[in-house]
Amino acid sequence: MTKKLVIVGGGYLGAQLAQSLEHDLDVTLIEQRDAFIHAPAMIRAIVKPSMLDTVLLPYEKLLTKGTVVKAKVIKVEEHSVTLEDGTQFGADYIVLATGSTNSAFLKPTGTSIDDFRIVVTDLNKKLASAQSVAIVGAGTVGTEMAGEISSAMPEKDITLISSDSTLFSQLPKKFATSIMSKLKKANIDIKFGMRVENLKSTSNAYSGTLHLSDGSSIEADLIIPAIGSRAVSSLVGELPNSTIRKNGQVDVDAYLRPSAYANVFSAGDMAGCGDAMTIVAVSRQIPWLTKTFKALAAGKQLEQLKPYSPWRKAPLFLPLGPSKGNSYMVIGTFGDWITRKIKGEKLFIDKYRKLFRLNK
Ligand SMILES: Cc1cc2nc3c(=O)[nH]c(=O)nc-3n(C[C@H](O)[C@H](O)[C@H](O)COP(=O)(O)OP(=O)(O)OC[C@H]3O[C@@H](n4cnc5c(N)ncnc54)[C@H](O)[C@@H]3O)c2cc1C
Repeated sequence: MTKKLVIVGGGYLGAQLAQSLEHDLDVTLIEQRDAFIHAPAMIRAIVKPSMLDTVLLPYEKLLTKGTVVKAKVIKVEEHSVTLEDGTQFGADYIVLATGSTNSAFLKPTGTSIDDFRIVVTDLNKKLASAQSVAIVGAGTVGTEMAGEISSAMPEKDITLISSDSTLFSQLPKKFATSIMSKLKKANIDIKFGMRVENLKSTSNAYSGTLHLSDGSSIEADLIIPAIGSRAVSSLVGELPNSTIRKNGQVDVDAYLRPSAYANVFSAGDMAGCGDAMTIVAVSRQIPWLTKTFKALAAGKQLEQLKPYSPWRKAPLFLPLGPSKGNSYMVIGTFGDWITRKIKGEKLFIDKYRKLFRLNK
């Protein structure tokens, strides 16, 4: 009999894995929202909310053989998951891919896509009427956001605040130096090595005064928190022998299993497997998971198969608006043209619309 696979969470990991396995296993994808959010486009969407129609992608056409169930899973057991209304789905294998949360205007805090549209549009209005903008957090999202705002609204006074002493210290120096010089050319003021002592919200934008760790303050018409992702792992916390880390990620074994349940797997942002919380990481995990489940469905034992190995040096594409930016790949650091062509111009929107079988 065809093996049953239940995937919890239809983000980058769950949606793509469901599609790649639906002809080999009996796949059920359970997702609490009625649309997929294409995260890389959300940074530009705050300056151009008209994009929302093309980057919030309905699930209806994602699968042709498998099933998408719109519901929230509240419990996971060794061979079943339970929904809020009490419905149970039995499974031979379960993949937990509940992802992560971020600022409310980048990823929804709840399940309603309509509410999310309102949050993004509202931030855009606040942005339009603000003169001074302070972005708290200079990781990829905060830095990219500074570039997007400055490119679309060059008249704004933008400050980017980082508690680190430099940008992207894990990458070759050339990458950070080039990004920094582009930010400076765009008149973005960068404050390094400064902790914000009084951030009022880690999720929503607001106006006010930030007190920094060197005793100085910044008054801004709009303070935008961009302090990073936090993994969503409440379901896995209940499983035997699972360990949740400070950032919300769960420890997994070499086969991406988070607990003593041999048939329950976990991947994407929630899995502490050595990858960063990125789509780039997911793009490495999906082929491994696909191959592994196909082999299991064909009767192989997991221990006969190759364990997962994370990226050693993952690529990074960092646009600063549609035409500028830098990219890092193992072969080197690249500038505006490559970054624009790979990501900046189109933000991979066509790729994901195609995945969801939507027209361009
Ligand atoms: C603004 C922004 C820009 C980004 N840009 C890039 C980029 O350019 N490149 C890159 O590599 N990475 C980027 N990332 C990171 C990327 O978005 C994440 O790595 C990616 O979303 C992880 O995919 P995932 O499937 O693990 O989780 P998610 O995409 O978070 O999906 C998890 C899904 O699980 C669902 N879910 C959660 N709990 C339940 C439940 N109990 N029941 C049912 N469903 C549930 C959620 O509704 C959600 O749809 C960006 C992130 C942000 C916030």
